[in-house]
Amino acid sequence: MIPAHKIETTPIGWDGRTVKEMLEESERLVADSGRYYGLEELRLREGNPILFEKIFSHLRGGLVNARSTALNISASPIVAEIGELCFALYTPEGDSIALSTGIIVHVHTISDAIKFMIRNNFEENPGIRPGFVFSNNNSMIGDVHTADVHTIIPIFWEDELIGWAAGVTHEIDVGGIAPGSMCYGHPDRYGDGLLLSTELAGTNDEFHEDYLLRCRESVRAEMYWVLDEKTRLTGCQLIRDQVYRTIEEVGIDAYKQFIREAIEEGRRSFIGTVKQMTFPGEYEAPSFMDVPWKDDLTVHMQSRKDMLMNSPVKITIGAEGRLDVSFEGANGWDFHSFNCSKSAMQGAMWVLLTQTLFNSDKVNDGAYYATSVHLPYGSWCNPNFEKVSTTLAWLFLIPGFTGMWRSLSRAYFARGFLEEVYASYPCTFNLLQGGGINHFGQPSAFTNFELSSQGTGALYYKDGEASCAAMWNPEGDMGEMESWEFLEPLLYLGRRIKANSAGHGKYRGGWGMESLRMLYKTQSQVLFTGGEGHVFGTAGIFGGYPGNSGYRHAMHGTNMKALFDGRKPYPVVDGDPENSQMSELVEAQQETFDLHALCGPHPFGEYDLYASVQRGGPGLGDPLERDPSAVETDLNKGDLSPRFASGVYGVVATQNGDGKWTVDPEATARRRDEIRRERLEKSVDTREFIDRERERILQKDFIAPVCDMYRSSLSLSESWRDKFYRFWNLPEDFQF
Ligand code: MN
Repeated sequence: MIPAHKIETTPIGWDGRTVKEMLEESERLVADSGRYYGLEELRLREGNPILFEKIFSHLRGGLVNARSTALNISASPIVAEIGELCFALYTPEGDSIALSTGIIVHVHTISDAIKFMIRNNFEENPGIRPGFVFSNNNSMIGDVHTADVHTIIPIFWEDELIGWAAGVTHEIDVGGIAPGSMCYGHPDRYGDGLLLSTELAGTNDEFHEDYLLRCRESVRAEMYWVLDEKTRLTGCQLIRDQVYRTIEEVGIDAYKQFIREAIEEGRRSFIGTVKQMTFPGEYEAPSFMDVPWKDDLTVHMQSRKDMLMNSPVKITIGAEGRLDVSFEGANGWDFHSFNCSKSAMQGAMWVLLTQTLFNSDKVNDGAYYATSVHLPYGSWCNPNFEKVSTTLAWLFLIPGFTGMWRSLSRAYFARGFLEEVYASYPCTFNLLQGGGINHFGQPSAFTNFELSSQGTGALYYKDGEASCAAMWNPEGDMGEMESWEFLEPLLYLGRRIKANSAGHGKYRGGWGMESLRMLYKTQSQVLFTGGEGHVFGTAGIFGGYPGNSGYRHAMHGTNMKALFDGRKPYPVVDGDPENSQMSELVEAQQETFDLHALCGPHPFGEYDLYASVQRGGPGLGDPLERDPSAVETDLNKGDLSPRFASGVYGVVATQNGDGKWTVDPEATARRRDEIRRERLEKSVDTREFIDRERERILQKDFIAPVCDMYRSSLSLSESWRDKFYRFWNLPEDFQF
């Protein structure tokens, strides 16, 4: 008699092959020909374009429908309100064919997870069979961080694997060392929470009860977790149904042909766009991120140092339409939670390209095959230690990629596509997370996702939009305040545009917003503050300024209850930090007000206040070229303070009796001439500037984290070291 598991090893690939053989063949064909599956002629697309488009529309419609239907199952505001979920359809080898709307960064990370299962012989053990359900949130296999949980199901037609359907949601809590979905302050992966490594979580189209039990026992917001599991599985099953309907209509042969051609078409169309829209060349734009933890007692002692991330991103655009991105020169990983796996970096590049170069609904892994990303081994973006923490990989990943967008904008500009030029996106912070005993008396945790609504960067011809997007979810939504208040024991005292938050410029970025939160009906909460404070997460472009960076403002032991009881005025925002409404109206036993915008969990009690400040987009062009009437409008809306109108924009305006500002055009022109003269007087020759900075390097005249950062980058990369030494003309024996 044949043992049961032997029966299951019957190959499930096409034409009697195993899926692993199919994946190997696919990779060989790409390597040999440069084309997906070696396809030269797109038979279906050329021979029957109507059928080709029809299949695509069926599948795409099915995916969008799956997302819209499934999100109603979730109770989590992150999923139901913000739409932090996405579904995608894959080939048997794990390449994405089509995807829904939503958090599309994960389309490629799931591809990595599927390929991991195939490469590691899952076909033999635990088996890949109809009705099986796999769960994954391991960033080293294919993900960004443990908070993003994948559900992946195989799709069979008769006895053959014809693809995979998968969905992802971002969880409210993942059972990490501190509450919230992306806790940090711990040194390594052992604090990252529940880890699912492409595990067999269900059979017969159902989750195993022991799997759900383990999840419930491991996380803090268990109801949300379990409903999200059901959300993802339902979406996957809806996609599978749609695939079956499509095959019944067009036949399995047409379907098989379609999935290959769709990806090759995606690749060709990506290359065509690169050739059409960009100017070939090498483009470089660095960015940085601060981790000021030397004296921070909220973090683990191994993590207690001041650190800076170096992201010297370079893109190379070839005349034949190839796009290669390199992070050579990135500094090393460390004992914090901001390390990025290769999969996270690939996913991030992919989601950014889909918002600029590759922005049609025909997005799929074709773009992946037309690009490459170089990630130096041992750096923060490709750690050589498997057990690094990655819970908040986004903290480095988001600023780390801003240079790619600025570089693409320069490439569009050089080609003449001015309308595509974008000053890049701002960082997606403040990240407010926390947990403790909530307002229902229950232990709980939360992650506030109003951070999906940052201001956007300025365009070449207009200002950015206020509070509407995140680089990882282009359909960002801040969610209803009442929905967050249901989940979090913090009331919203107010939420509005944060004045002066946009990066200034001829065209300014979109405004960020701020929320003022008050702890209510809880005595025991810890809250995180997450974001950049000492550096700007992104620069502006063509002379535009960066948007605001973060700061921390919290008040403990306040007189808020007395203010309410006495019907006295209370703050609804922090407002201008130089004239804080919180400090003016509230008395507190302890007030924290500084640039330490990234800290571990802090205790808070009832009636304590917490300001959560989001970011404005970077600006484009010299602020002195801004139309003075646009400055007047910003002044009159209260979004721009008078000191910025005169100091940054050189606009002279007077306030009338009714409080309305009016610009004086002649005085403005004179003031702008004056500022230009002041600039000339202060400016130095480039040669002189380089000599001066070179001397500072020779003297190591920098704060410790800057020296540490360069020391690490130079030790990791010989080529980057050569370039750095050559540029600054440093003696060979120089050491940081
Ligand atoms: Mn996530």
